[in-house]
Amino acid sequence: MNKTIRTEIFTRLRDANPHPTTELNYNSPFELLIAVLLSAQATDVGVNKATAKLFPVANTPQQILDLGLDTLREYVKTIGLYQTKSKHIMQTCRLLLEKYGGEVPQTREELEALPGVGRKTANVVLNTAFGQAVMAVDTHIFRVSNRTKIATGKDVREVEDKLMRFIPKEFLMDAHHWLILHGRYTCKAQKPQCSRCLIQDLCEYGAKNL
Ligand code: SF4
Repeated sequence: MNKTIRTEIFTRLRDANPHPTTELNYNSPFELLIAVLLSAQATDVGVNKATAKLFPVANTPQQILDLGLDTLREYVKTIGLYQTKSKHIMQTCRLLLEKYGGEVPQTREELEALPGVGRKTANVVLNTAFGQAVMAVDTHIFRVSNRTKIATGKDVREVEDKLMRFIPKEFLMDAHHWLILHGRYTCKAQKPQCSRCLIQDLCEYGAKNL
């Protein structure tokens, strides 16, 4: 795929959705961090349901620590892997207070040093909370990038690196959300909706569902 086609793809995605954002509900970098921590192998809808009850009660590291592990677990018990996630959240809150005055740090290294925070979570926070042009490659982005051939790769890191290189600069900030939403609602894992896909004529997938 060449640069002209990539530019046209992102132009169309931008025209269809000029201000894309995450479907996780949040009102601060800390709330986003907690929501992303909870979202691994869970749906955004499920996370939003839990945080809609949790955040009005506790939405700072100190307030979550004050809740205690057992109460936190109760708030998030509908979410997969909630036991481990709850422990990570408590440890993360403690570190945020000890090292960062309760604020969420703004570098990848500092974020990835927090319990339960991997490269993808760090990238989501850097991009969505702090406006950095980075690419968090999840299952949707990995699939869409490979199918379309916007950026092919055998693992998420290879796709991330290629996306950073290949996506024209003007689209880099929002590309993460456009690709996720495209994968979630159009280029679905089981049955891609190719016949109503707005980039169908540009996509290089060899097994389109037309
Ligand atoms: S044409 Fe089909 S495979 Fe290609 S991006 Fe659209 S939905 Fe995905």
